[in-house]
Amino acid sequence: MNKRVHARYFSRFLNLLPHRLSCHDSTRATIGFFSVSGIDVLDSLDLLSEESKKNIIDWIYSLQVIPKEGGLKCGGFQGATTLNLLDPPENYSTDQYKWGHLAMTYTCIAVLVILGDDLSRVDRKAIIEGVASVQRDDGSFSASVEGNEFDMRFVYCASCICFMLNDWGNVDKKLMSQYILKSIRYDGGVSQHLENESHGGTTFCAIAALQLSDQMHLLNSKQMEKLKRWLLFRQDGGFQGRPNKPIDTCYSFWIGAALKIIDAFELSNFKENREYILSCQDTIVGGFSKWSGTSSDPFHTYFGLCGLSFLREPGLLEVQPCLNISMRAFERLKNLHKIWQLHSQMEVQLNIE
Ligand SMILES: [Zn+2]
Repeated sequence: MNKRVHARYFSRFLNLLPHRLSCHDSTRATIGFFSVSGIDVLDSLDLLSEESKKNIIDWIYSLQVIPKEGGLKCGGFQGATTLNLLDPPENYSTDQYKWGHLAMTYTCIAVLVILGDDLSRVDRKAIIEGVASVQRDDGSFSASVEGNEFDMRFVYCASCICFMLNDWGNVDKKLMSQYILKSIRYDGGVSQHLENESHGGTTFCAIAALQLSDQMHLLNSKQMEKLKRWLLFRQDGGFQGRPNKPIDTCYSFWIGAALKIIDAFELSNFKENREYILSCQDTIVGGFSKWSGTSSDPFHTYFGLCGLSFLREPGLLEVQPCLNISMRAFERLKNLHKIWQLHSQMEVQLNIE
């Protein structure tokens, strides 16, 4: 595998989005995440100059929403600074539509950590308040204060944010775990919404959220065995997301990471998985596609590389399966947690004195 060609592929998305990706403009932060984290997993951050790293960090901070005193608890990050309102309502003000989005907040914080920022400009308190304010009565989370999307993806993003900021505030972890446990299906997988079909991406989100919130012990041994079986049965060369669906590069991450978390990845067939992922790479332009012979995109490129990292592909950094960032970035995050802890201990001591 030519690492450099894939790193250069990602670096292109940091400057300009091709026309066919213009529909993703409102979620540009996630493309920034795939590119920056992808370059990191390829151990090629040297491809970015110090100036361009600084520009990316400043751009990420420009996406942060700082809530107004006494206003909506809408702290977090937006996906882009542009608002595509073709038909803006009367008395339209851009401020009116500013609120953090859980997926954007998770990916923005991850980009900052990967690039070595100390998160000192992150309004941690407002973000955790924002996460707690979008938790629903059933334990799941909406994507944003005004959003109506809610499912396991946002349970996962909420868990990543609280773990990364090392603060669960008023988030009800127990209620969250109840939502997850209720979504486990008869076949051992987990569904996006209650009573739906088990899905590979959702299953990863649920298992990672349990791990990040330190609630893995809530799964009993029977549930664990059925889960392991459901995940391992998704392999057919590469991995599929659901029974009777074609295999797809990104599931080498979703299913692979879930298997890593429950310590069962070694039971999968490494050789076939690797062969499938590598068959989806574009060796000239760079990147990976979902199926062999189709065009590559940043999403499948990132997850394909993470899948290869689980297979210990030479030259790739190890990936932390729950947070979906390199172990190097994960260690940096753990160091930040230690510094925050020291600061708060010092503050307590100063107050006593
Ligand atoms: Zn896919």
